Amino acid sequence: MLRTLALLGLWSAAAWGAPLSIVTTSTDLKSLVEVVGGEKVKVESLAPPLADPHAIEVKPGQLARLKNAALLVRIGLDHEPWLARALAAVGDPRFAAGSANYLDSSHGIELLQAETPRLRADKSAHVHGFGNTHYWLDPENGRLITAAILDALARLDPADRPYFEANRKRFIGELETRLKHWLNAMQPYRGAKIVVTHESWPYFARRFGLDIVASVEPAPGVPPSASYLAELTQHMREGKIKILVAEPYANFSIVNQVAERGGARAVTLIPSVGGDPEARDYLGLFDLDIKRFTEAAAAR
Ligand SMILES: [Zn+2]
Repeated sequence: MLRTLALLGLWSAAAWGAPLSIVTTSTDLKSLVEVVGGEKVKVESLAPPLADPHAIEVKPGQLARLKNAALLVRIGLDHEPWLARALAAVGDPRFAAGSANYLDSSHGIELLQAETPRLRADKSAHVHGFGNTHYWLDPENGRLITAAILDALARLDPADRPYFEANRKRFIGELETRLKHWLNAMQPYRGAKIVVTHESWPYFARRFGLDIVASVEPAPGVPPSASYLAELTQHMREGKIKILVAEPYANFSIVNQVAERGGARAVTLIPSVGGDPEARDYLGLFDLDIKRFTEAAAAR
């Protein structure tokens, strides 16, 4: 029996009571796996919280961790262009689409900007080519992502399905309570026009009623030219756009210049769990971002 399970790639430490070793490509997925898996999982994220998620250097120690993982959970699409190389280095067929050891959490997500014209294939910066990949920033998508995680964990560890289900149920209850609070807090700013540095925020903006009118990057991952910035800041002044949203890893010499010339206030929102000590987990991430946005919008 054990041999059969091993051959299927389904053998797991869980059979011996040890936690399942899980690798995710982001700290947000790590947080959501921990929500569902509780003490039955031990999770590591390949990407640190404060880095461009599309440009990560996977370390040798992380490759070893991946090799021994029972499950890989990823954002999918072209969010992690760096993952293919890590997977090739590991060379394990368990981490292929359709395997019980592989979860692409983009399945079932309604993608925004799916009509974005593809950039030239020879551009290494080519991201969001299939639609916008920052879908975890709509807290409603936390519902779908944890549902997929629950199924994946229960497949590897069927005996603990009720435990995973109870954990997820508790999380969804808390998510619903906080979402009401966040929506209330954002109510006065519905329809507010904002500019972003990178297109990380369309899901967040849709949920909370913000209108993203422009991005500092002319296309995702492509740095702006001086003439593009001049046009952007003129547009911001004319449109009286008062908020510029930046990620903590943005180029702040550009961000501050755009904010100043465009007559806006720059607000740093945290796109991933752990990007700020207050963004300890998935729900804490939204607590912090809603607080920062509403404070900046109220002060404008
Ligand atoms: Zn992106």
